[in-house]
Amino acid sequence: MGETADVVIVGAGVQGASLAFHLARRGTAVVVVERESVASGATGRSSGFVRMHYDLEIESRTAWASYPYFRDWDAMVGDGACDFVRTGFLQLVTPVHADALRANVAMHIDLGISSRLVGPADVADLLPGAITDDIEVAAYEPESGYADPAATTAGFLAAARRHGARVLQGRRVAGVTLTGDRVAGVETSGGAISAPVVVDAAGAWAAELARTAGVDVPVEAWRHDTAYFGLPAGHGGRFPVVIDDARQVYFRPEGRELMLVGLESGNEVGGSPDRPLAPQSEATIGTMVDAVCARVPWMANGTFRTAHGGQDGISPDQHAIIGPAGPDGLFLDCGHSGTGFKTAPAIGASLAEWILDGAPMTVDLAPFSLERFAIGRPLVGEHPYGPLWR
Ligand SMILES: Cc1cc2nc3c(=O)[nH]c(=O)nc-3n(C[C@H](O)[C@H](O)[C@H](O)COP(=O)(O)OP(=O)(O)OC[C@H]3O[C@@H](n4cnc5c(N)ncnc54)[C@H](O)[C@@H]3O)c2cc1C
Repeated sequence: MGETADVVIVGAGVQGASLAFHLARRGTAVVVVERESVASGATGRSSGFVRMHYDLEIESRTAWASYPYFRDWDAMVGDGACDFVRTGFLQLVTPVHADALRANVAMHIDLGISSRLVGPADVADLLPGAITDDIEVAAYEPESGYADPAATTAGFLAAARRHGARVLQGRRVAGVTLTGDRVAGVETSGGAISAPVVVDAAGAWAAELARTAGVDVPVEAWRHDTAYFGLPAGHGGRFPVVIDDARQVYFRPEGRELMLVGLESGNEVGGSPDRPLAPQSEATIGTMVDAVCARVPWMANGTFRTAHGGQDGISPDQHAIIGPAGPDGLFLDCGHSGTGFKTAPAIGASLAEWILDGAPMTVDLAPFSLERFAIGRPLVGEHPYGPLWR
């Protein structure tokens, strides 16, 4: 007799790990199957931003429902650590998007999120040495910051294991198996696993896996480069997490000595998720340096340390695809489009409710359904800062 489970989760990124924890703590027999190792996909390369600022209400709501896990990890999860660092978060936009920003902050405040509008002088206080002459208004979230995505994932999985979950690494799921129009389990490189429920949390590989169950999921590989720079001597790393829409760049401290930088534009979409990640070009690093120094000129005295690329699954409207799809027993948790770290705790809690109780309660995830693409109702932010802004 082969292996059996109540739920098989394909993928041990932060999404699969959070779901495993929330299912296992309710007594569900969970097996997580990972073709490489824990957090070897997008999660291990994630910049780890924990902020609530979005232009789409459901996304802010999901991030806010996730926030208590980062703030109170020991009480909420109990194993490992997420290493949350509360630095505050600044969203900078060009004056042309000032009204959109005001509307978004009003929406956030309505949700109970700790956010406020700040002017150029406040920005200069929060981000010492910043150029602020192109800023009319910005948003500041004092409770936000960053966490360690690989540690978060390992912590969720340690807690899931404590509740009986099994995590199989180095085992690729070749396909979902069906009996008629029902899920029967998965076929893996190490044999079959029978289960009435299978969750596709396979990141950039999610479409490939869903196809084996006859489901067409519009998720492509999205590649994104980040780099670490040494801070100028004696700086101390006291500045917030920043998304600078005007310069199409984001940055945050990494401890006291480093700055992590990523570009909001120029990220490649499409191609096989199995093709090697290209090394970062000098041009990309140069663009990062120019964009950061245009905002905080003191980084001209910083030093380049290292760079790496990562990839996530991206959907056509750049929002996650979550919920039941196709044959009975198949659930999707994919297409996180470069923003699925901070939302993983509440998505795991809500998807576990959907699977076990028939409806998501913590956050109503129904807007993220696959169906929205077929019926022509993509998720679109109410007050975007540009066509590709998330
Ligand atoms: C460089 C970068 C920076 C980011 N920064 C942020 C940020 O600051 N804040 C934020 O909220 N989000 C950020 N994101 C997005 C976030 O990291 C991802 O949305 C999130 O990690 C997705 O988690 P996941 O579990 O869905 O996918 P992944 O972490 O990619 O996990 C999927 C796993 O599935 C496995 N797998 C695939 N196919 C199979 C198969 N057939 N059988 C078995 N296993 C399989 C893979 O090996 C992989 O480990 C960033 C992403 C990148 C790439």
